[in-house]
Amino acid sequence: MKYGLHLLLLTLLAFVELPAQEQVSQFGTKKHVEYIPGDLPLILCSPHGGALKPSGMPDRTYGVLGADAYTQELTRLTAAEIQKLGGHRPHLVLSHLHRSKLDPNREVKEAAQGNPTAITAWKEYHAFIEQARQAVIKQHGMAFVIDMHGQSHKGERVELGYLHPPSELSQSIEVLNAAEFIAKGSLALLVKRSGRSYTELLHGPRSMGALLSAQGYRSTPSPQIPVPDEPYFKGGYTIARHCTGETTGFQLEANRSRLRDTPANRQKFAHAFAVVLEDYLSGHLKISLR
Ligand SMILES: [Zn+2]
Repeated sequence: MKYGLHLLLLTLLAFVELPAQEQVSQFGTKKHVEYIPGDLPLILCSPHGGALKPSGMPDRTYGVLGADAYTQELTRLTAAEIQKLGGHRPHLVLSHLHRSKLDPNREVKEAAQGNPTAITAWKEYHAFIEQARQAVIKQHGMAFVIDMHGQSHKGERVELGYLHPPSELSQSIEVLNAAEFIAKGSLALLVKRSGRSYTELLHGPRSMGALLSAQGYRSTPSPQIPVPDEPYFKGGYTIARHCTGETTGFQLEANRSRLRDTPANRQKFAHAFAVVLEDYLSGHLKISLR
């Protein structure tokens, strides 16, 4: 009887430990998109880091066709660095198709340009994000999405996109902190849950831009650069579609030099970003990565 109980407990323990260690990928049709479930309320997406160019798929003929170099590597490294901190993993959703074949960060018309294979991959990509959101909200009550990109604008800086163009971010503090303005951005749930003002979260001393800048990665919006100059990526389709209801988050555009250009630099930035995320999520949402 006692031995049986012991065995049962061991079995239960093994089951409880499983989600943090086991990373079984789920794939879409032809392995064009991949979902790696995690156990944290954090979902990292990589739409523009894919390399596959299936010969049967025509190239897209309009929109941006160039990939964001090394962003899939950076996304995987960030997840690995988060796991090193506390043994837990974010959920990952990755597009393996090159951007010339599919752009998951656009509505389907521009994303797939009528190609049935691309349309299927686009649907599966966003269905995986929905699946991750539902799993995370069920387990943790809310979800945080980060859409991982790389930009090549002049001047080295990380661009954080909360769905507002610079013309909106340059308005008065009163306008930025008004409920109707907050509702237009991707941090509405974060404002509600943290109890902080919107301007604190956009460019205050504990904003994402401030924390990344403190690690040596110049960022905007931040206390140093509260209003980005153009060109600037304000966040796209994925953040607009998925950061609603009980989900919040932002688009991250990493500049290339010192962040994406070499394996050592990618590793260093991924580690710094993991450390910053731990501070940010625990400080604003009481979410522990450990
Ligand atoms: Zn991109």
